[in-house]
Amino acid sequence: MSLLPILTAPDPRLKKKSLPVLTVDDDVRRLMDDMLETMYAAPGIGLAAPQVGVLKRVIVLDIDREDVKTGPLFMANPEVIEASDEDVSYEEGCLSVPEHYSDVVRPAQVRVRYLDRDGTEQEMACEGLLATCVQHEIDHLDGILFIDHISALKRNMILRKLLKARKEKEREAAEGKSESKAPAKAEEPTPVL
Ligand SMILES: [Zn+2]
Repeated sequence: MSLLPILTAPDPRLKKKSLPVLTVDDDVRRLMDDMLETMYAAPGIGLAAPQVGVLKRVIVLDIDREDVKTGPLFMANPEVIEASDEDVSYEEGCLSVPEHYSDVVRPAQVRVRYLDRDGTEQEMACEGLLATCVQHEIDHLDGILFIDHISALKRNMILRKLLKARKEKEREAAEGKSESKAPAKAEEPTPVL
């Protein structure tokens, strides 16, 4: 297994629609395993293939909270086939939108159909953080980020800050003082998806 670089916004590849996988073969399984390792290392609780620059409809999740423990989940071609009328608001984060968080409103319960790591069709009823996470990851497959669910004003502010942070990092790398001053990380309870 290997760690894959995670793309951050604004990157045009994050805005593209991913294509379904035809079969879950060894290549897809390797992608799933690499994505899971990358997600754990980040760390995050969900990751979609376009976040590592692969435009395939593949996501991985592993939610470990007091109320929800899923273990590793691998989903190819996931689709929401039912969604509740009831909505819920969660503060979301994203590995591709580092260090920014925002409340996003989504259906509280969804039913998802997908192919598992063996290529077998499965259905899963999701609620709570799992429902939020699955919808967030499926959004990635359609080129949608959580910041696309918030006001344009707030979205543009976040994108400007990300761009500025990236330029600063590039300049520091050019000056040879890369990664020297990693800021002390505050304890971050917000899920990063
Ligand atoms: Zn995300």
